[in-house]
Formats: sequence, structure tokens, C-alpha cells
Amino acid sequence: MNTSVRVRFAPSPTGPLHIGGVRTALYNYLFARKHDGSMILRIEDTDQGRFVPGAEQYIIESLAWCGIHFDESVVAGGPHAPYRQSDRKTLYKQFSDKLIASGHAYYAFDTPEELEELRKAAEAEKQTFTYNTSTRKQLRNSLTMAADEVDKLIGEGTAFVVRFLIPENTEVIMEDIIRGKVVVKSETLDDKVLYKSDGMPTYHLANIVDDHLMEISHVIRGEEWLPSLPLHVLLYQAFGWDAPQFAHLPLLLKPDGNGKLSKRDGDRLGFPVFPLQWNDPKTGETSSGYRESGYFPDAFVNMLALLGWNPGTEQEIFSMDELIGAFSLERVGKAGSKFDPEKTKWFNHQYLVKRSDSSLAEDFSIFLQEKGITSDNETITKVVSLVKERVNFVKEIWNESYFFFETPTEYDDQVVKKRWKAETPGLMRALAEILATIDAFEPSNLDEAIKVWIETNGYGMGAVMNALRLLLVGAAKGPHLADIMAIIGKDETLKRISKGLSSLPQ
Ligand code: GLU
Repeated sequence: MNTSVRVRFAPSPTGPLHIGGVRTALYNYLFARKHDGSMILRIEDTDQGRFVPGAEQYIIESLAWCGIHFDESVVAGGPHAPYRQSDRKTLYKQFSDKLIASGHAYYAFDTPEELEELRKAAEAEKQTFTYNTSTRKQLRNSLTMAADEVDKLIGEGTAFVVRFLIPENTEVIMEDIIRGKVVVKSETLDDKVLYKSDGMPTYHLANIVDDHLMEISHVIRGEEWLPSLPLHVLLYQAFGWDAPQFAHLPLLLKPDGNGKLSKRDGDRLGFPVFPLQWNDPKTGETSSGYRESGYFPDAFVNMLALLGWNPGTEQEIFSMDELIGAFSLERVGKAGSKFDPEKTKWFNHQYLVKRSDSSLAEDFSIFLQEKGITSDNETITKVVSLVKERVNFVKEIWNESYFFFETPTEYDDQVVKKRWKAETPGLMRALAEILATIDAFEPSNLDEAIKVWIETNGYGMGAVMNALRLLLVGAAKGPHLADIMAIIGKDETLKRISKGLSSLPQ
């Protein structure tokens, strides 16, 4: 038996990838890398009715942005190509035939209309109709019909489906790495459709056949697939194949913990639930993405890794390599994890502060260019280093630093009222004269000169500095004043003081 770790992420291209899906891909990736195994991307597009153009490309681009790489995929190819189920279409029939031949599956000819009627009749009695061990004996299938009639119908091209024959009175025993032993009674299961006469397998058949053929060792997927596990385990038994090991990941919950995190929660509370922006080709609606909202991919990945898994220590900041080193399925919890939009911003802040000033400056200068502002690299780097502690995103740097690049044209009314007294213009004129005598406009020189002047004259530190800030910034905000003056330079400092003096009340 092949003992190497081989895992797969198997999305259906039915729309954008939800962050819960990204987390599933991430845990698969961490597990594969940790065990020197292989990571496979398989596109499960057998349900043609739910196919959405662009979704496959979106999934591939999202995972690449996150730094989740595949050893085998629709793009990279690999020993088990093709990796898109619609391109493997012809190979599933033989497996459906095999199950029929071994008595594990049967043909059913009930039309959609007939089944709908049964559903309605059951509903009228406040019950639900299921095709299962108790109803199948009254329905139109190869269990109740004579063999020659079945052959005749198939020969005539009558539409049929192949259903799995759930064994009667058995307990299906399953082992899940996260949940432990799970047992269900076979009576609670229904005879799911595996294959249709249009030549398409359903998810269940294609998924099991491909996991087997692709030699998948561990199936790591969302908890929403747990109800399918008994059928999957029975399918492996019916084929006589060794089943992979299973790990069903807990749900990502709404911030208040009540139910599964949905796109609507994101809209309501103002955070993205998709990694990249998604433009819905059907509705034309655009949904925001983490990338476009200014998140760093490593911050996003770090945040997702800790939603469901914990390292068993206080450490919160992990690079991808550190995550690979620390990850284990045993430390994934059973309970759902609440998504926390504020903590997500906190992670971005941590990564922003950790970035070098020069690389942040590079990102911020693109932002400045878009605003039509030109400045030199050295200045931008200094500005970024002064304000980065105050922001979560590169785009927020502007709000904390615009006054480095623009002379104020307005002065905050509230601050004027509070800080601009009758004696202030005189004070500012005198201060401008002092500043004009300083040649090296360095923060320490400026601090020292202002301090000496204030002390010698017995002025109030607050009265001087608050008014000066109003003239230089236009508001009561910004970093240390000497730092601001050193960056904008002597000429601009004096210009701003004189401009303010002529604009504000004398
Ligand atoms: N195609 C399924 C999905 O969209 C895959 C489930 C599984 O991993 O088995 O999530």
C-alpha cells in the first residue's frame, strides 16, 4: 500500500471561493507540506447546472494569491491527469456498471414528475419522501422489475439513474481524525443517485472514484460533507477499496456565533467573505475581496489558519513555513470558530508594522501616484515609518499623513476656537523668527531650540505647540511636530506659518 501523504482540494466551480473554502485548502496544504506529501487541485464540475463561468479561474487565482501551491492540478498537470471531472467523464461509467454487477447499485426509472408527486403526497401527510430501504420496493427500478423489462427500457433509451443500494439493518462505522468514531444506522440513509443516463456521474461517485484513482491518503474537507461520509464509506466497501482517512473541519461561524458565516454577514458588517473581488457574471453584482480591501496575503492566511486550529501556545503570528512546522489535524477543534472582523484587521496591522519601511513606501507611493502627488522615495519612507503604527492598511496611511504632502488650505474650526487666542499670532510670529535662524532642520535641533525659547520667555508649552500644529497640519493630529517640520523642511514650515497667520484671525 502506498503510504505517502496525498491530499486534495476539490472545489466545485459554482461561484467564488468562500473564505471557509480557502481555509480547507490551507489546512490541506499545511498537512501535505508538513508530511512531505502532495497537494492536488481537482475541479469537481459534474453538476453542469450549477457551473459558473470564471469560477475555476477565480479559485486558482485566489489560492495562488494566498501562497497555496499545487503539485498536481488542472494547470500543472500530473500523473493522474486530467484533474477536471468533466474531462474525465467517460471513465465513471465502468465504475457504475461494476456496482450494478456486484449488486451494490440498481437502475431506477422513476421520472422527476413521479418523484415530485411522491414528495408532495408525503408533504401533505407532514412527512418527507426518501428513496430508501423502505420505499424502493414500491418504486420503478431494477429491484422491482423483471430483468428483460429493464433491458428493454435501457435499450429504448429511456432515461434512468443508477442508485446506491443502502444495505438494510447495518451500522455504518466511521473514523474521523477530528471527530473520532461516528456511527449511523443504515435506515437513516437514502439511496443516492450515483450516475445518470446522460453519462454524468454525481458528486458522490466521481469523488470516490477519483480519490481512489488519485491515491488520496487523507480527505480533509468541511463539516458540511459529514452527512455524506456514511455513503462514501459504504462506496469504498462496495468497491473493495481501502478508504482514505477522513478529517471534517468545523464550520466558520458568524461573528456572534449564531450559524454559518455567510456572504450576507459580510455585507451587513462590512467585511469581505471572499479572498478576491468577485464580479458575478449572472447578476453583475460585485462582492469585495480581501486582496482589493488591502489585506496582505500572509496576514489573511495567518488569520485563517487560527480559525479552527490552535498551536497550543500563545503564539499568534505565523509565517507559512512556521504554520507548516506547527500544524497538526489533532489540534483542529470540533467546535465551530467565530469569525472576528476586528481581529482580522489586527493581523493586517501586525504584518504592516513588520514590513520594512522601504517596501511599505513602495506600496504607498503607488497610492500617491494615483492621487497625482509626487514626492521622493526618502521622504515617503520617512513618512511611512512615522505613521505606520497608527494604521491597519496601506491606504489608511494617507489619512494620517496627507499634511506631509499638501499645505493646509483649511483649519479645523473646533481647534481654532479652542487654541487660537488673541496672543497666538504674536507668539507664532516670534516662533517663526526663531525657526528661521536654525540651519539644520533636524528633529533634535528643533525640539531643543523651541524648548529653550519657550522656557526663556515663560510661555506655555501647550499654547505654543497646539497653535503651531494647527498652522502646520490644519488640525489637531499627526506625529511629533519636530518630525513633521524636519520632513517638510524649513521653507515649507515657514511658508505654512505665514500662510496660517494671514488666514486666521489676528
Ligand atoms: N466538490 C465538493 C465541494 O465543492 C468537494 C467535497 C469534498 O472535498 O469531498 O466542496
